[in-house]
Amino acid sequence: MTRKFLLSLLLFLLGISAFKISYAATLENVRYSYGSGTVRIVLDLTDKTDFEESTAENPSRSIIDLQNTRVAPNLHNYSAELNSTAAKKIRVAQFNSNTTRIVIETMAAVNIFKLNNGPSGYRIVIDVGNAAFKENPELNKPKEPEIKIETPKEEKELKDDKKSKEDKKSKDDKKSKDDKKSKDDKKSKDDKKSKDDRKSKDDKKSKDDEPKNIEDDLKELTGLDGKTIVIDPGHGGGDAGAIGPTGVMEKSVTLRVSLELEKLLKAEGANVIMTRRTDKPVSPRGDSASAIEELQARCDVANRLKADIFISIHADSFTNPDARGSTGYYYEKSTSPDGRRLADAIRRGLCEQIQTPSRGTKPCNFYVVRHTDMPATLLELAFISNPEEEKILDSEEGIKKAAQGILDGIEDYFG
Ligand SMILES: [Zn+2]
Repeated sequence: MTRKFLLSLLLFLLGISAFKISYAATLENVRYSYGSGTVRIVLDLTDKTDFEESTAENPSRSIIDLQNTRVAPNLHNYSAELNSTAAKKIRVAQFNSNTTRIVIETMAAVNIFKLNNGPSGYRIVIDVGNAAFKENPELNKPKEPEIKIETPKEEKELKDDKKSKEDKKSKDDKKSKDDKKSKDDKKSKDDKKSKDDRKSKDDKKSKDDEPKNIEDDLKELTGLDGKTIVIDPGHGGGDAGAIGPTGVMEKSVTLRVSLELEKLLKAEGANVIMTRRTDKPVSPRGDSASAIEELQARCDVANRLKADIFISIHADSFTNPDARGSTGYYYEKSTSPDGRRLADAIRRGLCEQIQTPSRGTKPCNFYVVRHTDMPATLLELAFISNPEEEKILDSEEGIKKAAQGILDGIEDYFG
């Protein structure tokens, strides 16, 4: 009898601790707020919790499984439409006995942060959209109380990072050798070019019946001649994009860099088409176009022309003003590996010129890289939310260097 009693007591105590473990937290509230092209979703919890992140297709969605968490009764099967280009819908459900599932319908990048002592207990902040703030913990050590947690996915990314760093090192070694070589080459090419320029002009006079050969010669010299390049300055018109601490607007930075880049590319003989050259939306419906219509209008420009490459230029932004650096994005599921190669070359060229830390070349679901038929990249120049980088992005020198860096990258890509 006593043994039986002790056994029940033991089981009872185990039961209590098991109960505590399996329901560490309750999800009490879901809040969201809109930025320009971004949505911030805040989950209020009664206790700390871990989560796992995954994605699914058709429609594109981001899934966040909160471990050992249950949904408060008032949030049971909660669902809301989100009025943003970044995300369409959010749903909350008790997925199984100890997992609460958050599903966000989105094609944009999703970044999750855990805040362990928010005013209302514990919070998980989910940023959907262009506020890329992930990986490279050395660059962006979140301030307390933000605690970055390592999910299995991130571990994989860290490994990849390590690998890519090693790759980069061996590439850099090679590159610095090559650099010297290519400088020498360039010099001799330049010499050759100016000689050939004179020569080809002379030729043109005498051999007007063979214009094709002269064109071919020029193509060999520049590598960009005859290439159709679509430049897409992000945002515009009523959509300012992100805004820096002193009020510099993303839409004007992207346009300034793009116009400068257009000049440089045209000088190299490229056929350059801008999705916009003024502070206006691209869609013929103007500011009354939906976000998707506006983005599709930009893709249409490149798709109709059957452009060789598409480059969408943006500036990054995040709530933590310390976030900084440049990121190249590409669409991972593209059938050709050229998007990634393009994103990588351009991001590298940019970082070398404006001296921003590299945040790497990353896959994304951004609409414009996903819905363009040619190798495409979306470039986040730097963080307009970072006071130092805002200054770079607002200076004449910074604009010129950024354009030069992108040009270097394009040359590298076609070279
Ligand atoms: Zn943007």
